[in-house]
Amino acid sequence: MCRHLAWLGAPRSLADLVLEPPCGLLRQSYAPRRQKRGLLNADGWGVGFFDETGAARRWRSARPLWGDASFASLAPALRSGAVLAAVRSATVGMPIEEAAAAPFTDGQWLLSHNGRVSRAALPDSAAAAAESVCDSAVLAAHVFATGPERVVETLSAVAARDPEAFLSVLLTDGATIRGVTWGDELSYLVEPDGVAVASEPWDDDPRWALVPDRHLVEVSAEGVRVTDLANR
Ligand code: GLN
Repeated sequence: MCRHLAWLGAPRSLADLVLEPPCGLLRQSYAPRRQKRGLLNADGWGVGFFDETGAARRWRSARPLWGDASFASLAPALRSGAVLAAVRSATVGMPIEEAAAAPFTDGQWLLSHNGRVSRAALPDSAAAAAESVCDSAVLAAHVFATGPERVVETLSAVAARDPEAFLSVLLTDGATIRGVTWGDELSYLVEPDGVAVASEPWDDDPRWALVPDRHLVEVSAEGVRVTDLANR
């Protein structure tokens, strides 16, 4: 399982969000605290954010986050109010390449997937549109094609075709965050200047709240809403 993180709020630097928290994504790349499957997330990483013009920007790599001195140098200078970042532990059989690292994008949304899914559960059209043969890239293409607003319905239909699938996803369009837990959990932290949603807390602040498995978490200007998928 990979680890991922989204931030929506006042602009923060990528260093503040990804590198500096004591138990943040950098630390989670080699010592995650709550990861149920996999010990290391060393098969690549990616950060996506929306710039001041609203354009989605990405920086991804197939190498471990901890070895990227160039990113460490520039991250304090890159700031955004809508960020989605991930460190990757590749599923066996999946390629280790930059195009397989989240976040994926259709230009309007950024998406990260934590889990695995059978290729047979996803349509050929998604595989054709995906930037990598990695299951997460194909799932992302499928969610973009079916509409991220309908992500819960889309994931439910995929799970019906692959009941063994783990389908946790995080999405942002710059104005909202949408997270679905399907085989894992998320945590969120409401700060005075924004909201973070992450696979696991980036520190021991007691304000982190849990989003249990099989829930939807939605973050917008109105606040945070958590819904049990069983009650939708
Ligand atoms: N299946 C995805 C991949 O191979 C995600 C793996 C994960 O969640 N660890 O990249």
